[in-house]
Amino acid sequence: MRGAGCRVEKEKVLKLPKTVIFVCSARLGWHKTLVYIDPTTRGANWCSGDNDDRPWICVGVNRCWWPGVVSALLHEAFECVADARGHVLEPLGSFDTDSDGTTLLMTHAQFSWVAAKAGEFLADVLPKIQKAFNKAKKARHAQ
Ligand SMILES: [Zn+2]
Repeated sequence: MRGAGCRVEKEKVLKLPKTVIFVCSARLGWHKTLVYIDPTTRGANWCSGDNDDRPWICVGVNRCWWPGVVSALLHEAFECVADARGHVLEPLGSFDTDSDGTTLLMTHAQFSWVAAKAGEFLADVLPKIQKAFNKAKKARHAQ
């Protein structure tokens, strides 16, 4: 999914639900980005932030396996950096926050830069989000 409204349409800024758990903050490209998990949902979201709000990524971990969490984090980190660099194009006149209609357009050199920044972010975040994921899994099994 995509936090498309964050930069362009203020009224569509994605808000985090109250069920999220803060994991860490980490540098993603130019920005410190807040990372959350949501033990009550699946799928993932990100928001590039606006005004006083920092960018964030939230991964839903309800009944997810670990590789799925890694994939979701990679997807969102990549998309967040690509968007910050202007590589995510929306269809003209689109007011949708869904990412299915968007196109990522970049040269191989730009792809390398985006991949490098997403990789650095993952190296920093993965140990922390794995800890939070395991804790949330344990809590669910204890219920
Ligand atoms: Zn996406």
